[in-house]
Amino acid sequence: MEFPDFFQFHLPTRIVFGKGLSADFSAELAELKVTRAFLVTEKFLHTLGIPERVMTALQAAGVAVAGCFDEVVPNSEVALCERGAELARKAGADCVVAVGGGSSIDTAKAIALLLSEGGRLLDYQGAQTLTRPLKPMVAIPTTAGTGSEVTMVAVINDPESESKISLVDRFLTPALAVLDPELTLTLPKRITAATGMDALTHAVEAYVDIESSPFSDALAAQAIRLVSKLLLAAVTEGGDVEVRSGMQIASTLAGVAFNHSMVGVVHGMAHALGGMCHVVHGEANAMMLPFGMEYNLDARERKFAEVARFMGIDTRGLSERDAALAGIDHVRQLNQKLHELAGLPTALSQVGVPRDKLASVAGLAMTDGSMFYNPREVVEDEVLGMLERAH
Ligand code: NAD
Repeated sequence: MEFPDFFQFHLPTRIVFGKGLSADFSAELAELKVTRAFLVTEKFLHTLGIPERVMTALQAAGVAVAGCFDEVVPNSEVALCERGAELARKAGADCVVAVGGGSSIDTAKAIALLLSEGGRLLDYQGAQTLTRPLKPMVAIPTTAGTGSEVTMVAVINDPESESKISLVDRFLTPALAVLDPELTLTLPKRITAATGMDALTHAVEAYVDIESSPFSDALAAQAIRLVSKLLLAAVTEGGDVEVRSGMQIASTLAGVAFNHSMVGVVHGMAHALGGMCHVVHGEANAMMLPFGMEYNLDARERKFAEVARFMGIDTRGLSERDAALAGIDHVRQLNQKLHELAGLPTALSQVGVPRDKLASVAGLAMTDGSMFYNPREVVEDEVLGMLERAH
């Protein structure tokens, strides 16, 4: 067993979990000492009454709803975030509350950043560009996959550069994450599948990345166990709140894990596929995960064998390499089952990625910050090869 020379673990987010909690989290709100909340959400969620439920909870806790910005769309763009920030400023908000999937939470992070610091969003692109805390953020996820409710990352689409830009700063981490699995009961099968595979990808990449530590490993391992046990049931029995609870917890565990050890080559490719070809983030991760695991196999054979065991595979009698390969095969089989049950795509050609764009996707992927944390040096030709095999 080897331990890293140095690691740190810091969790600034207070995480609260409970069935129905999004209707009453006044005790947790009181600690934030805020009075005027700006809600960031998407129009569709009104049809489920979810933003309304949160607004009622805020008002009951004595926090005024200064505004409700419901223009978020999957993969929100820079201009939309800047418009939201302008409205939040005019409303005199002293806190930002995200209600929705990763797109809503990331948009809320960008809005909170601009609300506190002003300027243009692209000025804050990259890592550690902030110098002081922002107005507090509350994140209430309605999907179970991104873990954005506990991460210091926001990923925003920049149509000008045809890429997804990352904003990474510890001050972007929400102060409070309210996990209410009831909010995920309405997720359709395909979104359940894609977001669940996003969580699994976070956990697997966090487990093998160069900055992994015993702390992030413990969380990633438990996230892998939970997703492996529950994802198919979440798709077929989406109304089961216990199953949804497990997926919600797994997603947040994986979020805390990768917030410390970051993600790797799979995410580098997924971000480029999202930015250039608008592939849904969780679907891109699902399709690229087995290829990324194969790519990293030689660098992390023992850890991938452990991943296979966390997935519930009986590896007794197998060499570490064969156990690791069984884990990779397991991910392929899981993708295939999710394809049959939920329509999850299994090839890039199924989601309209043109083959002649793959070289540009590979080039863009090489510029992604995730590549830096990958356990094996990332080579552009090999990235292109993986994309071609996944096409
Ligand atoms: P999303 O927020 O884009 O939502 C996907 C779909 O789910 C939408 O159509 C939405 O209407 C629907 N939806 C959401 N909640 C629902 C509910 N309760 N019932 C029914 N439908 C519901 O999807 P996502 O996968 O949660 O987020 C993806 C985004 O998050 C991407 O932009 C990705 O880059 C980003 N991301 C960020 C981080 C981070 O740490 N900041 C990590 C991973 C991914």
